Amino acid sequence: MKKIDIEKITSWYKENHVVGLDDRYLTSDNIRPHLTALNELFKVEKIGESFEGRAINKVIFGRGKIKIFLWTQMHGNESTGTRALLDLMEFFTKPEAEANLANYILEAATIYCIPILNPDGAVAYTRVNAQGIDLNRDVIDKKAKESQLLQDWLKKINPDFCFNLHDQRTIFSVAPHNKTATLSFLAPSIDEKRSLNQGRKETMTVIAAMNDLLQQFIPDQIGRYTDEFYPTATGDNFQKMGHNTILIESGHAKGDYNRYISREATFMALLEGMRCIAAGLGTDNHLSYLRIPNNEKKYLDAIFKNVSVAGRKTDIGVLFIEELVQEKVCFRPSIDQMKDLDDYNADEIINGENLDFENKNAAENWLKNRFN
Ligand SMILES: [Zn+2]
Repeated sequence: MKKIDIEKITSWYKENHVVGLDDRYLTSDNIRPHLTALNELFKVEKIGESFEGRAINKVIFGRGKIKIFLWTQMHGNESTGTRALLDLMEFFTKPEAEANLANYILEAATIYCIPILNPDGAVAYTRVNAQGIDLNRDVIDKKAKESQLLQDWLKKINPDFCFNLHDQRTIFSVAPHNKTATLSFLAPSIDEKRSLNQGRKETMTVIAAMNDLLQQFIPDQIGRYTDEFYPTATGDNFQKMGHNTILIESGHAKGDYNRYISREATFMALLEGMRCIAAGLGTDNHLSYLRIPNNEKKYLDAIFKNVSVAGRKTDIGVLFIEELVQEKVCFRPSIDQMKDLDDYNADEIINGENLDFENKNAAENWLKNRFN
């Protein structure tokens, strides 16, 4: 199957993506109508309940031998992957001019999805589940019901590839231009030596292909996470167990606080990933993965240059803190940095020479009005 054409796929997306999924606050109630409306290509089944008794569903589609397992919102307040997954299901429902690509994937692979693994966290807009457990650090202890469910289905499905979908904060940037990291990837390590076994090389090869496609859509805005081994992390353990696992972190794009751009990029990443897995790309191109620049933490929502605070000149770096207000995600400015920020980038860089604050608190109060 030939490579995905960026023009064709962006034009498909523009015409056909799912409408009405605009806010970053996204719960099981919001996606239920979309799951109910899926056609006979898809099998939707309740597989269990969260700690607070909310239904967790599995959606299966495709007819092929290769098994792909994908889950979203393991962290409840990270919804971009869920929205991209619904767009992907829409693609398989009505691929239009891309029917060949859709059929190719559906013939080669069977795709098992758990949209919103942490529905209680989604409602509360928290990273953790209702018991305060970070599901992405619970793979060994399995203290959370939701972690047990994920691993029960990992065993039942025995997938060849997994996609673990998350959102990352605005602070992540990509060298050398310090652009915002709109998407980041990780092929997790299987041990402290960060060994490259066959499976990990396969994972890296798929990510390299996803990066190649996406550089045409969000150039220089794709980063790579450190592959330091995390003994309690989901991806590291699943990869170690022999299930190739691709971590996708959807992030910020300039001015895009609803994350429409990273949602579209995540949709494309999933589609290209599935195309490569269906094609059995092997390991040949795994070293290209290492050429994706590392994520850095040099991006801020705003920078005020040369401000006076308590009689001293400094730059002020502002990060927005997400807060849920009446079921909508709002952003409260907070001062993250007070130092020379010449090597940082931001959505807005403002000359602050005329600003003079008594102290940091006074500056923070002023910012609340500035960004209201
Ligand atoms: Zn996350």
